[in-house]
Amino acid sequence: MTSCSFSLHGIGVSGGIAIGKTRLVSHATLDVSQYSIAPEHVSAEQNRLDKAIIDVRRELQVLRQEMAATELADDIDAFIDVQETLLNDVSLTEDTKAYIAEHGCNAEWALVQKMDAWIALFGQIEDEYLRDRKFDVMQVVERIVKQLMGKAVDSLPETSSDPHTILIAHDLSPADLLQFKHRRFAAFVTDLGGATSHTAIVARSLGVPALVGMRMARQIVHEGETVIVDGDQNCIIVNPSRVVLAQYRALYQKQKARREALMSLVRRRSKTRDDVDISLTVNIEIPDDLSLALKVGAQGIGLFRTEFLYLNQKTLPDEHTQFLAYRRVVRGIKGKPVILRTLDLGYDKINAQVDMLARVMPNPALGLRAIRLCFAEPELFTIQLRAILRASAYGKLKIMIPMLSSVSEIEQTFDAINAVKKTLAEENIAFDRDIEIGAMIEVPAAALAITPFLKNFSFLSIGTNDLIQYMLAIDRADEAVAQLYDPVHPAMLKLLAHVIKSANRAKVPISMCGEMAGNPEMTRLLLGLGLRHFSMPASTLLAVKERVINTDISALKKLADRILRCTQPTKIQALIAEINSL
Ligand code: PEP
Ligand code: MG
Repeated sequence: MTSCSFSLHGIGVSGGIAIGKTRLVSHATLDVSQYSIAPEHVSAEQNRLDKAIIDVRRELQVLRQEMAATELADDIDAFIDVQETLLNDVSLTEDTKAYIAEHGCNAEWALVQKMDAWIALFGQIEDEYLRDRKFDVMQVVERIVKQLMGKAVDSLPETSSDPHTILIAHDLSPADLLQFKHRRFAAFVTDLGGATSHTAIVARSLGVPALVGMRMARQIVHEGETVIVDGDQNCIIVNPSRVVLAQYRALYQKQKARREALMSLVRRRSKTRDDVDISLTVNIEIPDDLSLALKVGAQGIGLFRTEFLYLNQKTLPDEHTQFLAYRRVVRGIKGKPVILRTLDLGYDKINAQVDMLARVMPNPALGLRAIRLCFAEPELFTIQLRAILRASAYGKLKIMIPMLSSVSEIEQTFDAINAVKKTLAEENIAFDRDIEIGAMIEVPAAALAITPFLKNFSFLSIGTNDLIQYMLAIDRADEAVAQLYDPVHPAMLKLLAHVIKSANRAKVPISMCGEMAGNPEMTRLLLGLGLRHFSMPASTLLAVKERVINTDISALKKLADRILRCTQPTKIQALIAEINSL
């Protein structure tokens, strides 16, 4: 039987073409079905459970070995220790076996029923740490269920990685995705998410084609099917015909050749035809991302999203752990600047296991996020500031503060930094006393009332991902409103022009580190608006550089002004196409 070919459309968050076989990333406990087991088969069913538990133990050992040499080794070790303890707990096996016997049901069903009861019990525990172990229970059960169902398709750890695998998931948190950084696969597809959701950002940093907001892909596509992922046309083609496959193979080869050609730009100076230097830096999430930044010839790190160090953790990283991570980055970039953003933990970065910060959840995008969380948890902030300042003794480190919106927050920020500087000085600990402090402009209030930001900070960086979200009232993580998320909405362009112009006039360096900065289609428009510093995912840097090198800035101004005056979206698009064809 030949499988029928069909296509699904979503939101491309990382361009390019991939061809491979699907691997479904699942939450098996949701898929469990119930069936009866005859009394004479109960003990065989119980043995099936024992075997699955043994297999999971083995799987965890393999994972431990695989991750031993990586940055995540310590965290993974701690995580596996807890899971092994739970696997060894007699109540997991004995209670489940008793349930199988009592109800004459299959092992998967019994496990999930017991899991619900255990979770309820954990929920009543007062101690927060112990209460949180319910998430470990859920994960362990998930693993066993997968083994029982004969699909050791794992949401995270796999025993191998395959460069031809296309991962299909309903949704994954950025924390989950971080672990994929150590695996190789061809492309990534999720049902949920918008183009600038943090899951999408991490997916993009993996440098493979990625699509989000596919809605039903996880349900419709089957394990092991051939799929083409077209990150440029925002679609996947499942079971393509031979003709389509041949066409895409040709396109894939062309794309590969182009990528190789772009590599020739690595050593080229980033300046326009009319000799204007444009700085191109890279956004990173974890220190391991440095290698890609160096490979594409980045002029520094324009945004280090430090909150990713806090994900996948059972406890918050202490000062020393953070210090080592920051020092590794600042040393690794070989004298170039690193802009380290203080903790920006927010709703869509937090996975269920990190519910020590669960109170950021109710209306998370507008809630206790980023600097607000740091002010609410001063110890958290102090520990991070100490680690950053200590690392500043080892290179060119700058601090950047996210989500600021008012003068009082600016004052509070400087008070906190100065207090930490004072104690470090008293303790005779080395740090850069003149460390530059910058702010993200990502709340419309800061963008409009920008004067105090210009007065107080050494540099600014526009976070378009959030600025667009707040300006247009569109949740960046919600694919249901993704079509409204428009970086070139007339209001956005006016706001961007105002911010860039104000900063340039005040001679305060202004950069952009939102995803817009990494879109080569936007490069000329932004240059025309006066932007000279860009920070983006490493995977897009060379394409942006190519645009920069082929641009004459003096020719852009007139068209950029026309775009700014325009209120018709279709006209704006046409003018952007025109500016790109100059
Ligand atoms: C932004 O908001 O544009 C940004 C760069 O920060 P993040 O995407 O991490 O919120
Ligand atoms: Mg932001």
